[in-house]
Amino acid sequence: MTDRDLSRETLTVWGGEERYLVDRATQVPVVHSVSFGYDDVDEWLDVALGKAEGHIYGRNTNPTVDVFEEKVRLLEGGEAATSASTGMGVISNTLYALLRPGKRVVSVKDTYGGTSKVFTEFLPEYGVEVDLCDTTDFDAIEDEVAAGCDLLYLETPTNPTLKVLDLERLITAGHEHGATVVVDNTFATPINQNPLEMGADLVVHSATKFLGGHADALGGVVVGSRDLIDRIYHYREINGATLHPMAAYLLLRGMKTLHIRVQRQGENAQQIAEYLQSHEKVTTVNYPGLPSHPQHDVAKRQMRGFGGMLSFSVGDDLELVKKLIPNLRLAHAAANLGSVETIVGPPATTSHVEVSAEGRAALGIPEGLVRYSTGIEAVEDLLADLDSALSMI
Ligand SMILES: *Cc1c(COP(=O)(O)O)cnc(C)c1O
Repeated sequence: MTDRDLSRETLTVWGGEERYLVDRATQVPVVHSVSFGYDDVDEWLDVALGKAEGHIYGRNTNPTVDVFEEKVRLLEGGEAATSASTGMGVISNTLYALLRPGKRVVSVKDTYGGTSKVFTEFLPEYGVEVDLCDTTDFDAIEDEVAAGCDLLYLETPTNPTLKVLDLERLITAGHEHGATVVVDNTFATPINQNPLEMGADLVVHSATKFLGGHADALGGVVVGSRDLIDRIYHYREINGATLHPMAAYLLLRGMKTLHIRVQRQGENAQQIAEYLQSHEKVTTVNYPGLPSHPQHDVAKRQMRGFGGMLSFSVGDDLELVKKLIPNLRLAHAAANLGSVETIVGPPATTSHVEVSAEGRAALGIPEGLVRYSTGIEAVEDLLADLDSALSMI
């Protein structure tokens, strides 16, 4: 039986683990060594030149980090994977490795706040042209791609308004015009969506979120063809945003339960979204699993589950959010998502903390929104908590 024959449920547990088990240990070691020693200089040279497998220096590669990359690679179904110290580390290394002055990027307005900053603030200073389209105007995205596009950057579902992009349609458009297509799959996770299977060239994750799932380690990972991953790896090994072996271990340990966590979070989120939709004080609910969601059919086609993220508003000003959030007992008010505990926050302090109020308005991010990252708690408790918090405003 090869890894190819194994289901995702099994791969989250076993995938990539055998390679570095030492002295009959059943668990992957955390290799804290900065460097790796060689008595034979010829062997050392071969490893240095990539002619033989092995490790030389921790900024480049590390056994624990290798196992983490391999597990995500298997789950996303790609040829190769590489990692970075954070999600933004992997996203910026991907962009800077593949783009040069004169290149053109097409993306959408609703990308993660940090990514959006790279597009609007940094890349233009390096002579890279970036055009951000209205996120669900697929015709406009196709038109921009047709006007010339070297890299098409997509993210779905989006943060924090849970818009869904039609991946098959946009990936096809990107490839017709010779673009490299990158998809941020953080919200969906490889359990619910595999962009590479839909033809994307690269899939990126903030492993900090659902992959790790316990809010205790930062990390990022990118999966795709050997050729593209080699270029990104080379850029990252020199620039140095290396994933720490201890973080890699925590992410690996978290990933063993990825499948059951994501399944439970999705079930909880569906019930909570339905409850909120019927609540008189709630004005909007964004969740791709609701039939009323504008791209519900697209989500049904390309996702195996709708995920644990939702957002809602109780009117359109931040003051109401400020009143509501402290009333929730079973939710950390924090700038994170995808953990076993429920987490809430407004976009102004979470996904779009890097963006000014005017910037958020320009990107169409409402100020009165509450982002709700559903945990694995009993849904009855979460519903009762929301009910009581809403009754107090
Ligand atoms: C958090 C996040 C990122 C950035 O990841 P970090 O690990 O915080 O650097 C990128 N994309 C999405 C969708 C995210 O939620």
